[in-house]
Amino acid sequence: MFPRKPTNLIVAALCFCIVFTSLSPVALAQKKTAPVEATPPPLNERFKFGEVDLEVLEQADLLDVRFERDGLVLADESANAYLRRVGQALLPRDLVLERVSWKFRALRDPQPNAFALPNGSIYVTTGLITLIDNESQLAAIIAHELTHVMRRHTYMHNRSTRKKFLTMNVMQAVGAASPLSLVGAVITVVTTVAPFIMMATIYGYSRDLEREADHKGIDMMISAEYSPEEMVNVLKVLDKDIEGENIRLFYNDHPALDERIKYLSSYLGARADKVTHQMELNRERAAYFRNMESVMRHNLQLAINAGRVRSAVYLAQRLVDFHDDSENLFWLAESYRMLGPRAPQLTEKELTNSAKKDAAKKREKRTAEEEERELLATPAGKDNWQRHQQLAEELYQRALKAENPAPVVHRGLGMLYEKLGRGSDAAAEYEKYLELSPSAVDRGRIQRRIEVLKEKLK
Ligand SMILES: [Zn+2]
Repeated sequence: MFPRKPTNLIVAALCFCIVFTSLSPVALAQKKTAPVEATPPPLNERFKFGEVDLEVLEQADLLDVRFERDGLVLADESANAYLRRVGQALLPRDLVLERVSWKFRALRDPQPNAFALPNGSIYVTTGLITLIDNESQLAAIIAHELTHVMRRHTYMHNRSTRKKFLTMNVMQAVGAASPLSLVGAVITVVTTVAPFIMMATIYGYSRDLEREADHKGIDMMISAEYSPEEMVNVLKVLDKDIEGENIRLFYNDHPALDERIKYLSSYLGARADKVTHQMELNRERAAYFRNMESVMRHNLQLAINAGRVRSAVYLAQRLVDFHDDSENLFWLAESYRMLGPRAPQLTEKELTNSAKKDAAKKREKRTAEEEERELLATPAGKDNWQRHQQLAEELYQRALKAENPAPVVHRGLGMLYEKLGRGSDAAAEYEKYLELSPSAVDRGRIQRRIEVLKEKLK
């Protein structure tokens, strides 16, 4: 269900009271009448553009162009339109801001992250879209980012820090916080095109500005009738450290998520009653998953390509729990196949900071194949491998039995059988795949695999 925007937000904000249209009479009766103060749109009225600000603006525009040119913007018009709808629902109607034109787009990056450029471009990565649970959580992320733009935080931050950092220092600082080889294309592009904007997006703004974005974000959520508790819940979702990465990004570090959870909980307690209904949230979750299912599938491919296989298993399982159709089962099978000899979850010990640092160093030096070979030499690795290959096979079979089985399932099974040394089964599955999807983009590659397998079988 999509929350409707008040026709006149200013009036609505002035005489604001939390009325959730779906509240049952019982809930209304139980609800205390907590006064909620008016919340004007979080603007920075006194801000005037200067020359240094225009430089930053230029960098931001350039960044938009680069993201598009490098194919990092997700070419999924319905997903981007959905982000836009949520963003517009949060924004005060008729708001015009000098040199801001709002754009809401998904970035093809499996690392959970979101950021706003001062020109009004709001980006949410596919990794974050896939991790969060419902539209209110998405609204929480977007509201936080909108506040940075509306309050002109990037310009203020740049004015106060640019003298301290030369471009070279920025590159060094970013490299020290997280090796560029590990952070992925998005951050690499931001660092090279717009180093000063990078400072704020990778380290976050100052604590005061971040706190302001969180608080004003909650106010905007309430005005747009989103469940404000979901701001806290989304931080808890982000707090899950599935990959054990030692990368400092705002959305997994700054200010410490625990601290944000604490101050937001107390802010919420002062602002309003708990009004969220589990039923309402479940319905919202279903709507969110329906809207974002294709983005989530796309992100699974990105996560697997980036070697984020633990995340892939976790995220694919969520998708299957929502909708166990052939394609989602296929993705879960693929994730388990790629998980191979790795344990599905990291241990407490592996999640300590020093262990994460060691792991990051290792990851820089060895390939995924080398890691697999090492693990396969251990009994635990062998066990995991066997279990995951078996799970993958069961899931592929389930995917074939589901309604409208996806042809790619045969390709996945082919790869699984090939790895298990079942050459003729593998060739047969590959052939079925090509028969069912004659215009597959990887047709040439699969055909060669068939030839190699048949050659070996002679
Ligand atoms: Zn922020």
